[in-house]
Amino acid sequence: MNESVAFCPQCRADSLFVQTAGVRRCSVCGFQFSISERRVADTGSENSGGMGVVPVLLKVILIMLALVVVVIGIAFAGCALALSGGHF
Ligand SMILES: [Zn+2]
Repeated sequence: MNESVAFCPQCRADSLFVQTAGVRRCSVCGFQFSISERRVADTGSENSGGMGVVPVLLKVILIMLALVVVVIGIAFAGCALALSGGHF
């Protein structure tokens, strides 16, 4: 059980926080926030970041391919419209 002075958003002042089992609690007003959530979020993002490199690359490649297909399609449609317009 550790005690530390930190800024409390509810007191709007520096107050004494009591740290217990991954939770910090303001001794003045009782405002508390979890510390373990941040750790879980950090490890989760690290894991997903490490595992998600290949899928991200595949997504980028797929998006680029889709863009190329769309550009070719637009150009083809434009040529077809121009040709059909020329016939009329
Ligand atoms: Zn407080």
